[in-house]
Amino acid sequence: MNDQRHAHTKAMRKRREQLLGKAYHLFYDDPVHIVRGEGVFLYDADGKKYLDVYNNVPHVGHCHPHVARAVSEQLQTLNTHTRYLHETVLDYAEKLTARFPDGLDITMFACTGTEANELAMRLARAKTGATGMIVTDHAYHGNSWAVSQITTAEHSREKRGDNIATVPAPDTYRGLYADDSQAAEKYAEHVYAAIDTLALNGHRPAAFIVDTIFTNEGLPTVPATYLAKAVEIVHQAGGLFVADEVQPGFGRLGTNFWGFESHGVVPDITTLGKPMGNGYPVSAVVTTTEIIEAFQQDDHYFNTFGGTPVACAAALAVLEVIEQEDLQTNARKTGDYLLHGLQQLKDTYEIVGDVRGSGLFIGIDLVRDRDTREPATNQARKVVNLLKDRGVLIGSTGRYENVLKIRPPMVFSTENADMLLQRLDEVLKENLGSE
Ligand code: PLP
Repeated sequence: MNDQRHAHTKAMRKRREQLLGKAYHLFYDDPVHIVRGEGVFLYDADGKKYLDVYNNVPHVGHCHPHVARAVSEQLQTLNTHTRYLHETVLDYAEKLTARFPDGLDITMFACTGTEANELAMRLARAKTGATGMIVTDHAYHGNSWAVSQITTAEHSREKRGDNIATVPAPDTYRGLYADDSQAAEKYAEHVYAAIDTLALNGHRPAAFIVDTIFTNEGLPTVPATYLAKAVEIVHQAGGLFVADEVQPGFGRLGTNFWGFESHGVVPDITTLGKPMGNGYPVSAVVTTTEIIEAFQQDDHYFNTFGGTPVACAAALAVLEVIEQEDLQTNARKTGDYLLHGLQQLKDTYEIVGDVRGSGLFIGIDLVRDRDTREPATNQARKVVNLLKDRGVLIGSTGRYENVLKIRPPMVFSTENADMLLQRLDEVLKENLGSE
């Protein structure tokens, strides 16, 4: 960065802090000032090009022309709300629910993943008459007051209501039952304990909610039968299962369109967000008629900006691009290619403890020691910053922030994968320090 640019960035940061306050965080030690995006690339104010390996919201690629056109045309025609009849809203709901197992036929619209999860909590309470929520102990589900209660990664136990009980994230690499062939059963058993904890506090479980790729938990390799067993226990106790598909949904995992499908479970409620409108704010809850029947007995739902004709035009265009460009297949093929390349890096560099994931959702677990699997948190931070300097934007996740998170737009190609692998190879060669 030249001196002039450095001074400008510094001034912008100061202005931002004055105007937005200190509660907002920026990525990177030297934050980037992005001004344009196209496909898998972002460009900063100096025209420097970055490969975007981080952003899943521009699901079909930054500023995809088909989505931009659909939004623009609808915006120039009409934008109201869901209290008027509108074909596009219905067309979208029909096309979306066709992607779900039979029975999950109803779509309710909101604007953010948080709102979708809050609505899911309300639906579960209405259907079960219960108030308890079961969630993993390092989850992210959103930022409203109610939803931050189940965002256990950020809301400490002391700040949570006694109707929230946690279970350990089903981590087979670093966790209670790492490398244990009985991990599925053992992790699932914790759901019984959570139900007991709720009972001690006078609650029955309304729902068990998980992000079906466990992003915030560090993208662990989940034992195959874990979720089905855990959900069975919740159902036996009268609770529902909510699949939060905000991260893995819309074909990202390559093998399946939804994350829950890869666990062989059918949710009672599903929540969608981030990638749904390629950046246009739209989210949804997809559930059953039976659950809505229970909810509407003494409640109703309206969300001013949720599911407007423009929001649905954006969402419809996203589904069309996924189909026309066969992006789920691309996620599978490019993801497999990338996983193979990353395995080779693992064979070369001691710091790469584990490589895991599916499709275009991959985690690289960096460790200080292969045997103890001690998380290499500081090194992960350095890798993220060094990659940025080399024109690759990536993030990290997990309880120790040591898992590099690969989650690019779905148009990511094998050529893009090669660029990532090459830059990663360069960075891992550097002295990343031992602390
Ligand atoms: N659920 C999951 C799994 C998420 O990762 C997020 C956001 O990162 C949300 C819900 C909340 O979505 P939003 O930020 O749109 O409210």
